Amino acid sequence: MKIIMLGAPGAGKGTQAKKIASKYHIPHISTGDIFRSNIKNGTELGMKAKSFMDAGGLVPDEITIGMLLDRIHEADCANGYVLDGFPRTIPQAQSLTKALEDMGESVDYAVNVDVPDENIISRMSGRRACLACGATYHIVYNAPKKEGVCDVCGQQLVLRDDDKPETVKKRLDVYHEQTQPLIDYYKKAGVLAEVDGTMDMEDVFQAIVKILGA
Ligand SMILES: [Zn+2]
Repeated sequence: MKIIMLGAPGAGKGTQAKKIASKYHIPHISTGDIFRSNIKNGTELGMKAKSFMDAGGLVPDEITIGMLLDRIHEADCANGYVLDGFPRTIPQAQSLTKALEDMGESVDYAVNVDVPDENIISRMSGRRACLACGATYHIVYNAPKKEGVCDVCGQQLVLRDDDKPETVKKRLDVYHEQTQPLIDYYKKAGVLAEVDGTMDMEDVFQAIVKILGA
């Protein structure tokens, strides 16, 4: 089963991707992990990617696709995989479709975890982090025992810049411009599966399982 996860940043698609991977015994492949392992292992593509990153530029799609194809040819992907964080743009999706076609394969499901912007902004603005020990909290879903204080080390908790509404809004704008068109792309391909991502994490997962089959 080959699955692509779609959804805005903060919609919870990474969490769902991990749960899918664990239930269906397929690897969870995130672009971040692929980059890190290629760079760590000093592969040719990893070194190329690193030179672009060191220069402060974006890594060209063909390098990212190359690393992704290497990864999905590994033995643990024989029964499928769940992709998290790729594709992010229409050209990337087209390259992936083409590369899979060349192998006689195609994506089985593109799962869109749908959450309205307002929900994402309010979820993120409830996050709190301890900069001293790295512990994270949420004022509603995972509150510290004492307001504003880290349970682990007693330091003050902060709202990180990344979680502030203005930063989240900017990321959502990029998402709407570049990534949301993928929903139509995979709808036309007949593989789109939409779930309501505003529900509890476990309910979202059950909705996905219903689509994928037990
Ligand atoms: Zn702490």
